[in-house]
Amino acid sequence: MEQLLPFAGFTTLFLVVIGLSFMFMFWVEALFPLVSVQDKHQIKHVSSNFGLWVIAFVFADMVVGIALLNLPDHLYQIPFGLFYWLPLNSSVLLIFIGVLVVDLFSYLYHRLLHKLPWLWRIHAVHHSDTELDVSTTIRTHPAELLLGNLWLTAACILLGIPIWVNALHEIIFIPLILLQHSNTRVSEKLDKILRPVFVSPFVHKHHHSIIREQHDSNYGIGLLIWDRLLNTYQVPCSQIPQVVGVSGMQDAKWQSITGMLLAPFRYKPQRVLEPSAAPGKI
Ligand SMILES: [Zn+2]
Ligand SMILES: [Zn+2]
Repeated sequence: MEQLLPFAGFTTLFLVVIGLSFMFMFWVEALFPLVSVQDKHQIKHVSSNFGLWVIAFVFADMVVGIALLNLPDHLYQIPFGLFYWLPLNSSVLLIFIGVLVVDLFSYLYHRLLHKLPWLWRIHAVHHSDTELDVSTTIRTHPAELLLGNLWLTAACILLGIPIWVNALHEIIFIPLILLQHSNTRVSEKLDKILRPVFVSPFVHKHHHSIIREQHDSNYGIGLLIWDRLLNTYQVPCSQIPQVVGVSGMQDAKWQSITGMLLAPFRYKPQRVLEPSAAPGKI
C-alpha cells in the first residue's frame, strides 16, 4: 500500500473540509441557539478562542502536523508493527481499522490529559471555557495540539498505519466534534440515536461540567465505544450541565489569549468540587 499522502490535494481537502464545517456549524448555531447570548459578548468570546487556535494551528498543525504527514515511507515498514502482521490485503479494510485505532489512541490521550497533573494544566485551557459554542472546539493550548500530534504519529508508526489516516480521522469526525461543543439545540431523540456508537452533544457537554466526577468521564473523541468498553461512560441527564468550566478558572483573566497561553504555568488545580457542593443539573 502507498504510504505517502493518498493524492496530491489531500492537505487542501483537509483544510477545505475543516473550513466549510466551521462555517456551516456557525450558521446552524445562529439558527437554533441552545442558550441566547449577546452578539457583542459572543464576538469577544469567539475572537479569543479563534486567536488561540491561530497560534496553536500555525505552530502544531501547519508546521509540525504537515511535516509529520510527509514522513518517509520506510518509517512504516517496521517488522513488529501490528499492521505488518495482519493479513490486510484490502486498502479499505486497512483504512477502516486505521481510523478505529486513531480514535482509540485519541481516547487514550484524552484520558491521560485528565489523569496526569502536568497534562491537566494544559488541557484545562479547553475546559476553562465558561460557555460552550463552536469556537470551544478550537480552544486548545498549542502544547496540547503538539503533544497530541506527536502521540498519534508515534502510534501510527508503531502500528504501521499511514499518518494521513490520522488526518482522515479528523476529516470524518470534525462535523460531529463541532456539534458536540456547539450552542445548538439538539433533540434528545437525535442524541439518543447517536449515543450507542458516537460521542453525542449531550455526552460531550457532560464532559465539560465543572464537577470533577463528571468531567473525568466520557473521554471519547468520535466513538463512544471506548468509554463503554473501558468503563468511563457516564449517561448525561441534560442537554448541558448547569455550570461548565474549571473550578478556579472562571475569572475573566483566564479567558484572554494571553491568559490561556500562560494558564499551564499559572493555574493551580483545585479539582475538589464535589457534586453536593456544586449547583445541580438543569
Ligand atoms: Zn477533557
Ligand atoms: Zn470539549
